[in-house]
Amino acid sequence: MMKTDQPLIFELSKHGRKGYSLPELDVEEVDVSSILGGDYKRKEEPLLPEVSELDIVRHYTALSKRNHGVDSGFYPLGSCTMKYNPKVNEDVARYPGFSHIHPLQDEGSVQGALALLFDLQESLKEITGMDEVTLQPAAGAHGEWTGLMLIRAFHEEKGDFNRTKVIVPDSAHGTNPASATVAGFETVTVKSDENGLVDLNHLQQVVGEDTAALMLTNPNTLGLFEENIIEMAQIVHDAGGKLYYDGANLNAVLSKARPGDMGFDVVHLNLHKTFTGPHGGGGPGSGPVGVKKELIPFLPKPVLIKKENGYTFDYNIPKSIGRVKPYYGNFSINVRAYTYIRTMGGDGLKAVSEYAVLNANYLMRKLAPYFDLPFNRHCKHEFVLSGKRQKHLGVRTLDMAKRLLDFGYHPPTIYFPLNVEEGMMIEPTETESKETLDNFIEAMITIAKEVEDNPEIVQEAPHTTVIGRLDETLAARKPVLCYKKEEVKI
Ligand SMILES: *Cc1c(COP(=O)(O)O)cnc(C)c1O
Repeated sequence: MMKTDQPLIFELSKHGRKGYSLPELDVEEVDVSSILGGDYKRKEEPLLPEVSELDIVRHYTALSKRNHGVDSGFYPLGSCTMKYNPKVNEDVARYPGFSHIHPLQDEGSVQGALALLFDLQESLKEITGMDEVTLQPAAGAHGEWTGLMLIRAFHEEKGDFNRTKVIVPDSAHGTNPASATVAGFETVTVKSDENGLVDLNHLQQVVGEDTAALMLTNPNTLGLFEENIIEMAQIVHDAGGKLYYDGANLNAVLSKARPGDMGFDVVHLNLHKTFTGPHGGGGPGSGPVGVKKELIPFLPKPVLIKKENGYTFDYNIPKSIGRVKPYYGNFSINVRAYTYIRTMGGDGLKAVSEYAVLNANYLMRKLAPYFDLPFNRHCKHEFVLSGKRQKHLGVRTLDMAKRLLDFGYHPPTIYFPLNVEEGMMIEPTETESKETLDNFIEAMITIAKEVEDNPEIVQEAPHTTVIGRLDETLAARKPVLCYKKEEVKI
């Protein structure tokens, strides 16, 4: 049980205490207002807590313990690939040659960093089967938008301005229709069939001369491989559209199958998912975009090229959609992904997808007797259960997810994808041991039994966390970010 009465730093504040020590000033002191102009100078001191270094260390350590991360426990959050982030990545990202450089530095002085970016692009081309890659996009959703802008530029270059629609399956991640909208397209939904795969007949019906692209993840968000992908590519290409690959589920097929070979024209990868960038909590991501030949001219600029005497950025890309991010992407996440790829090697990456799929199928089969399994077939790296059976007993999937917190687990993704009632999407990843999986299975079975014997304990969960049930909408819409209530102005 966690302590709930831990004082926070504002409560510990004592006038005159300091949490830092700086060396004596050895330059002339400057009055800030003489540089900024008087108007910009504060009239009053900011209301900051005054605490000792030890107080501040304890404050942040206490906060960190209230959080759940991959390093503290199992985190089977479907579609997010919360795998272990190897610590060697952190060592490499902190090498001074990578961490103490500036994007405005002369290219000649950062050749090692540029070589790393170039090699990472080459690796990602090989892994995805695409012809060129940009590392600029900052995350998956940003990659989606970038990819769609490339597709738009491609159609418009041909004078084809009527391709205004992007087709998205009903199982798609919310970012897909959102990115399509932000990129100026209209979204059209294509239905899944009874096997959880895109309904080919329906696809035939919705595809047409106004189709810009079909966005798809494979395996899809139900963890099922779209077996008809070649036919789907044919249908979309015959209509003049492009095929977009949402690479969030690449962990399932790494070194086994390549989107480029399946017929995809544009892909994004989520390096922070598949390639071990620490993520969650809004940390930096990296969403490289790979394209087939025809789309290369439109890639964001500058483009990193290799010349005889070294690496350089080429800004002379007349058809480029322009920059999509200042500088060259989230460099340090790219360093981590590069380190991961190099430490794993081709065989290692193949083992990743094999164990990810094995672990998911193991969990699915062990849990299937206790929950509804809407699509009863082999899954890839994740699977979706339904809490329908428990809902009939008055307990919702949300309640079971909250109850898992009491067992020390991060809950799976819930109520997603939208085409499964009371869905729970579970992705164990390859980095978990059989013991961890068995303990989680036991916790899930315990909860399923509680639903029958003692539903209140589930309905009222969590019981062991600092805060119980939140009004999640209010917390997101009107977050209270200041300690002093009167200062909160929303
Ligand atoms: C995570 C995810 C995204 C969005 O990626 P971000 O890196 O979070 O922006 C898109 N599609 C799917 C299927 C995902 O799981």
